[in-house]
Parts: sequence; C-alpha cells; structure tokens
Amino acid sequence: MTNSFSAYQQLNSLLHLINSSLQTLPITQLHLPDQLIFSLTNKLFSSATFYKFLTLHPKITSSLNLVWSLEVPPRVKTFIWLLLQNKLATIDNLQKRGLMLVNICTLCKAACETAFHITNSCPYFMHTLHLVLFLSGTPATYPSYPATMQLALLSKETSTIYKQLLAISYYFIWKERCGRIFREVSNTPSISANLILQEWSFSQLLKGVESPALS
Ligand SMILES: [Zn+2]
Repeated sequence: MTNSFSAYQQLNSLLHLINSSLQTLPITQLHLPDQLIFSLTNKLFSSATFYKFLTLHPKITSSLNLVWSLEVPPRVKTFIWLLLQNKLATIDNLQKRGLMLVNICTLCKAACETAFHITNSCPYFMHTLHLVLFLSGTPATYPSYPATMQLALLSKETSTIYKQLLAISYYFIWKERCGRIFREVSNTPSISANLILQEWSFSQLLKGVESPALS
C-alpha cells in the first residue's frame, strides 16, 4: 500500500512536470501545419531527453518532493503539494480562469483571497496558528529564512513538530474556508485550533508517538 502510494506520488509529480512543459510549447507559424514540438529540443517529445533535463536540473523537483517526506497524513501532503504550486481554487485563481467573482477573503473579510494571504497574513489564520503553537507548547518563532511560512515547510531549519503543525493548520484553514463557502458553517479560531491539535495528536498516535504536550 505504501509502495503503491509512493508510486502514485511520483507519477503525479512527473505528470505535473510534463504538463508544465507542454504549456510552454511554442505556437507554430500559421503557414505550417500544426505540430507539437518539445521546447527543450524543438523536436518531438522524447522521454530520454526529458529525463536528461530532469536529472540535469534536480532543483526543479528536489524541493517540492520534500513535501512527501513531511510527517503528516497523506491527504495533508497532497494538499500542501497543491498549495505550494498555487493550484488551489482560490478566488484569484478562479478569476484567472474567467470566473466573475468578488474577491474577498471569507475568513477575515479584510483582504483579497490568495493562497499567500490565507497562509501567511490572514488574521484568522494567524490567530489560529498562534493558538495551535501556544497550546502545543511549540515556540512561535518563525524562521527568518525562507521568507514565507509555506517554504518553512521545506526548510531544514524548521523543526519537525513545527512543520507538522503548520502543514495541518494549512489543511484545516482551507477546510474552514470551504466550509464557510459551501456549507455556511464557520468556526472560531479556538475551535479550529482544537481541531488542528486533535488531528495532529491522532497522527502522532498512529505513528506510535505520544504527544507530550497533550498527554
Ligand atoms: Zn483573510
């Protein structure tokens, strides 16, 4: 089960990279018949060439692949994978796809909704995260580098417990946002913080690790 899920993650990662490359394909001149060409070689796509490109540019995949090493439930990893690539259906992304929407954050109603706002500067999120860190006894000091909390998930300077709490907080803040939009249900930051800590404690118990702060 673990191997098949890992294989699925790797396949998903490869498909995303292929999709990103296909989006950069140049448009052929009008007087020529349509033809798909691979931007790296100006010829047809070659798996060998693409593999060589990936191996020569390991930074493209190496940092994002750290998501899969986070010690959080698989659904949280998948969510973080989408978040770090700005693939969530936030209002600004939906507007880019042509949807006519008023862009206002449903959590704080004081700013436009973007992935960066929700996970870095939204007062609702910040209040919730501070409660999570306080209740779990985790130091509420953010690393000065990297600049955003999303990238702190991938930093070697960030503690494992901080990464776990941060990742699960992101996941639950998105659930809270969706709950407000689609089910018209809203929770206070303290309720969200308790839900996050319950999820974190449960994930720790599944690994056989006892949570010192909550035991
Ligand atoms: Zn907000």
